[in-house]
Amino acid sequence: MQVTAFLIKYGEIGIKGKNRYMFEDALMKQIRFAMNPVGEFEVRKESGRMFVEGRSEFDYDEAVEALQKVFGIVGICPMVIEKTKDIEHVRKTVLTFIDEQYPVKDFTFKVHARRGDKEFPMNSMAINMDIGEKILEAFDGVKVDVHNPDVMVNIEVRKYIYIYSQEIKGPGGMPVGTNGKAMLLLSGGIDSPVAGYMIAKRGVRIDATYFHAPPYTSERAKQKVVDLAKIVAKYAGPIDLHVVNFTDIQLAIYEKCPHDELTIIMRRYMMKIAEHFANENNDLALITGESIGQVASQTIHNLAITNEVCGMPVFRPCIGMDKQEIVDIAEKIGTFETSIQPFEDCCTIFVAKHPVTKGNLKRIRKSEEHLNDVIDDLMKEAIDSTEVIHVK
Ligand code: ATP
Ligand code: MG
Repeated sequence: MQVTAFLIKYGEIGIKGKNRYMFEDALMKQIRFAMNPVGEFEVRKESGRMFVEGRSEFDYDEAVEALQKVFGIVGICPMVIEKTKDIEHVRKTVLTFIDEQYPVKDFTFKVHARRGDKEFPMNSMAINMDIGEKILEAFDGVKVDVHNPDVMVNIEVRKYIYIYSQEIKGPGGMPVGTNGKAMLLLSGGIDSPVAGYMIAKRGVRIDATYFHAPPYTSERAKQKVVDLAKIVAKYAGPIDLHVVNFTDIQLAIYEKCPHDELTIIMRRYMMKIAEHFANENNDLALITGESIGQVASQTIHNLAITNEVCGMPVFRPCIGMDKQEIVDIAEKIGTFETSIQPFEDCCTIFVAKHPVTKGNLKRIRKSEEHLNDVIDDLMKEAIDSTEVIHVK
């Protein structure tokens, strides 16, 4: 394959003035991170354009796939760079490029040259004519259409000569790192990885907290969450995953509180602990995978009661989505297969047969009073013994 580089097109929304540099720097940083496993690449800006150029051999499909995970990228144009500024070389390179990019030769085309380097002896008009002619001579089935071409052959004469044509769709969104940081409550389920992905797409860096309950939940259940964090990290960048041992708190709630209120009370403590780590890590919000009415703990009444313990905003990007819509995104981003592995979750172990669906805040608070003499110590213990896994 002759393609050695990509022209990166990115969104212009909200990137006026100083923000533009922040946006572009964050985008370049995220591209470098994403391309690291693919090979050696140089990421650079040149006259208001962004390029990713291979510095070693790389697998084309792998490179495109990695770029398609970088938020902020709107379009990816496979490109060849002709470093010899000689029209005979340019002709040859363009013909090979078209031959490789479009195996079926029955399209209309237009050459669109731009000359940034005024030293180059031909102006853009002359380049258009010259190269257009050569393409017509070389491939039988192709025709020129200047108004509505199937294929636009872009030739930019700048420091080097850049040749590109097709544009592969990027994920859109904003580069991670341009919009602060938030704490994701990440379980082994389908919804929370999707929620993390959706908030990261808006440029937010992600930390995560997972509650496990050994020995009731296994090492493998924990590994599944680490695996999910790894997949989300492909989009969101490195994630610090806080693994909280929640067993003693769960047992205390189980022992001292009405069983039909277990889930709500447990969720309130999860939020409190997650918020503690959020504050410690300068996260400005919490993120959960909750969706109205999905399960008993997610009725609007119970969501309100869960929310009540948090001082910071709680983002719930799946809130208005049906399960199938969440599943569709999980499949698209590659978390679904991991999410459906059958390992126990700490929430499901102590779950009541008939959990309350219309929780009453006063009553829940009353029930929580039964925990008064133990909960501070238990919370402190859980927080102090938390393990932080740096997921890349
Ligand atoms: P998911 O598919 O994300 O697990 P769910 O449909 O299983 O969601 P719940 O178990 O009620 O729903 O959890 C709702 C939200 O609470 C999750 O999306 C997640 O953000 C958080 N959560 C639940 N369990 C845990 C856990 N063990 N560790 C961290 N967060 C959790
Ligand atoms: Mg769950």
